[in-house]
Amino acid sequence: MACPYLAYRTQAGDAQFDEPRAYCTVADRFVQAMRADICNDRYGLAHDEHCEIYLGCADDGGGGTDQRRDRSGGNP
Ligand code: SF4
Repeated sequence: MACPYLAYRTQAGDAQFDEPRAYCTVADRFVQAMRADICNDRYGLAHDEHCEIYLGCADDGGGGTDQRRDRSGGNP
């Protein structure tokens, strides 16, 4: 299961793309391709084990419980 903080957007801030790209709603930025593999739990990676951003949220009591997922492609 993908990270609940993962969204796909075509635009954020000054960045704009033709195709939706992986976007971290915690860090408020697009994520690199290698990071997106973690976000999507691909290739044996797991967001709840390998992402320091997610784990930081978990430490704050928010990780894994917040079901925010924006697939609208809109702005934050
Ligand atoms: S796995 Fe990490 S970088 Fe990816 S959406 Fe979740 S918190 Fe953000």
